[in-house]
Amino acid sequence: MKSHVQVAVIGGGVVGASVLYHLTKLGWKDVVLIERSELTAGSTWHAAGGMHTINSDPNVAKLQHYTINIYKEIEAISGHSCGVHLTGGLMLADDEDRMDYLKVTAARGRYLGMDTEFITPSEAAERLPILDPSKYVGAMYDPNEGHVDPSGVTNAYAKAARIGGAEVYRHNRVVELKPVDEGWQVVTEQGTLIAEHVVNAAGLWAREVGQMVGISLPFLPMEHQYLVTEEVPEVAGLVNGFHAVDAGGGIYMRNEMKGVLLGTYETNCKPWSASNTPWDFAQDLLPADIDRIEFNLTRAFERFPPLANAGIKNVINGPFTFTPDGNPLVGPVRGLRNYWSACGVIAGFSQGGGIGLALSNWMVEGDPGMDVWAMDVSRFGDYATRGYAHAKGIETYGTRFMIAFPNEERTAGRPLRRTPVYDRLKEKGAVFGAAYGLEHALWFAPSGTDPVETLTYRRSNAFGPVAEECRAVREAVGIIEISSFAKYEVTGSQAELWLNNVLANHTPKQGRMVLAPMLNPRGRLIGDFTVGKLGPERFMIFGSGIAEQFHLRWFESHLPDGDFSLRSLRKELVGFSIAGPRSRELLSRVCADDVSREAFRFMAIRETEVGMVPCIVGRITFTGDLGYEIWCAPEYQLTLYEALLESGADLGLRHFGARALNSLRLEKSFGSYTREFTSDYSPFEAGLGQFVDMKKNEFIGRDALIEEQQNGSRYARIVLEIDVADVDPHANEPIYHDGKVVGWVTSGGYSHHSKASLANGYVPAELGEQDHFQVEILGSIRDARRLNEPRFDPRGDRMRA
Ligand SMILES: Cc1cc2nc3c(=O)[nH]c(=O)nc-3n(C[C@H](O)[C@H](O)[C@H](O)COP(=O)(O)OP(=O)(O)OC[C@H]3O[C@@H](n4cnc5c(N)ncnc54)[C@H](O)[C@@H]3O)c2cc1C
Repeated sequence: MKSHVQVAVIGGGVVGASVLYHLTKLGWKDVVLIERSELTAGSTWHAAGGMHTINSDPNVAKLQHYTINIYKEIEAISGHSCGVHLTGGLMLADDEDRMDYLKVTAARGRYLGMDTEFITPSEAAERLPILDPSKYVGAMYDPNEGHVDPSGVTNAYAKAARIGGAEVYRHNRVVELKPVDEGWQVVTEQGTLIAEHVVNAAGLWAREVGQMVGISLPFLPMEHQYLVTEEVPEVAGLVNGFHAVDAGGGIYMRNEMKGVLLGTYETNCKPWSASNTPWDFAQDLLPADIDRIEFNLTRAFERFPPLANAGIKNVINGPFTFTPDGNPLVGPVRGLRNYWSACGVIAGFSQGGGIGLALSNWMVEGDPGMDVWAMDVSRFGDYATRGYAHAKGIETYGTRFMIAFPNEERTAGRPLRRTPVYDRLKEKGAVFGAAYGLEHALWFAPSGTDPVETLTYRRSNAFGPVAEECRAVREAVGIIEISSFAKYEVTGSQAELWLNNVLANHTPKQGRMVLAPMLNPRGRLIGDFTVGKLGPERFMIFGSGIAEQFHLRWFESHLPDGDFSLRSLRKELVGFSIAGPRSRELLSRVCADDVSREAFRFMAIRETEVGMVPCIVGRITFTGDLGYEIWCAPEYQLTLYEALLESGADLGLRHFGARALNSLRLEKSFGSYTREFTSDYSPFEAGLGQFVDMKKNEFIGRDALIEEQQNGSRYARIVLEIDVADVDPHANEPIYHDGKVVGWVTSGGYSHHSKASLANGYVPAELGEQDHFQVEILGSIRDARRLNEPRFDPRGDRMRA
């Protein structure tokens, strides 16, 4: 064993092996993989090996597509077979909701280059003769699906990596990790080595390898079963084999020799080793438990009748890991230098290659090379406790095959974080969602109605109430809790210099705010903030609440020397926004200061008192109307709330929630972080150019922007008004121009005040000035007109009023 290496990858499952290979591919040769047993000795060896491109996040889908294509490459380099069977796959729909889901999936696939096809149940039965077509309403066929040999893939990666210079140490458990100046001291059963970087690819044991450095990774191992039948004559002769998912039945299947491999996702699922994974578990299986999957098997026998008579050759029950949202935990871990996560992977054979690519780019180039937010380990904060991960892991498993509706808020592990006003909002009929573990109101059900939203791809029962909330904001005044925003305080003599380096805009003058994008060195968006200056050396930063850990990781890796302090105020500040033409009148009744137009201008910020409560008040709202954001300590929140409510009663004050806020910001053409603003786009492409100050000093990303100014942008963000009657865009719908798919929607919805269905999206820069596009929503192509200016208040008179 070497004594000093550049990278030690811990874990020789499919994921660790892929990371190792990709590092060598990028030219890092001094890399080793340390495996406590044999390669594949965790979840990998007993996997069913199924692979597909479909994922609810388009960037993860792209990486899945990459994974499927890499098998040819590693086979060629290693000479080792991956056992790839590209059978093509059927996604079966047993009701119209599932058909809607498939239409959405197919449409999304179109701009990812996926070539899917809708077929009738009878046509599906021609491809899979055991299927009873009367049980289905339709199916989607994807030619790019199939299965691989799990052991073949892992060994092909490992061998290709060895050829690239890597070494693999088997039967050698990592028992301890200690930070040292050069990186990490890796203590193993066979001795100690120093690694500049370590990668936690320990799969089922990744929690333990996390605990070695004091972190708790949020996932839960769950038992999962599939059975393999004896020969089934109806499919034994299918030359290309088959792959099918009947999500409504909670089952998937593929050919295995002349029989069928049938797997289930049961709702009465079972965690395995909830708190610790035993070290003596290796290439082991768990006892079969057919009773637990009886419901799914009954469905399978009804829908695929020949299976009812097939003999069962084998039942496999094995554990693998489930994260709170089903996506992996990848990337650098905040606060730990050169400690990388590559775990929590549900679909190693669809995602392993993409994870290896993204992580190795990140380690070698300092950047994953694309937006990988959906699988970034930093999307979870300290709220994602063991108990939360447990509740969510069970939910992720049990809903794996359920339709995730665009307006759905899954319920496990909730409520977790609540602000003091939670119960009051509940009394008002609030329907809550959770962001970063915090409950926040989505909309308010009118009294006498159930505060429950119907799940649908179309307009839900929230449509009417949200319209009323929007009306109140545009015509009178509304109040929304905004505690879910991220808040940071930056102080010290180095604060201004630091802000000028990490943000693309200049800092504001005292008492003022600016909008400021944050860029990576490639000039792509990694943040979108409001910065306010409260004192000579004191700034507030407001940003996306769900990205707090992500942003802290970036901030902290760019800290200046000298007098400087950065603090998250997540637990110290809660807030409300009041917005609408009468919001000034409301504030003037409760605020100690003069808040007249002249005294408290648009984009001003100050510390003051609101109804006895010490507050920070900024004149800005995401509604694009006259309005204010008011922040106070949690202990004052109810007092502030009562004061605002009492003073606004005769002004038509009404609660509004996140759904109305979305509707209001859409008609102002405002983009939103993690939707329009992601690391796939530059600020110029995203329409944020006016908030970039190219004339100020050096800042991260400036050189890339200069290059972009010289060479031109790739994309243009556009806002479309879409011709629809009863359905609105959500995200990821393809945008067409001249009959070709040219772009995609990043977010959308109905703007009640403008009475228009609006979508944000990206198209190639050269099409950014075109007027006419089309958008595919639920299988129908709708005409769409590009807006030259925001649908509401294009000159911004209302905000500045
Ligand atoms: C029954 C079943 C069916 C499945 N079917 C599919 C499917 O059809 N398609 C699909 O894509 N996925 C499937 N999966 C999931 C798939 O198996 C996982 O996504 C994948 O194997 C995860 O790989 P990994 O490398 O992250 O983890 P693991 O395979 O668990 O590998 C981790 C490795 O790390 C090693 N290790 C841990 N701790 C240490 C240490 N301290 N020192 C050294 N080594 C250590 C372990 O020994 C192990 O080899 C299935 C899983 C099961 C259980």
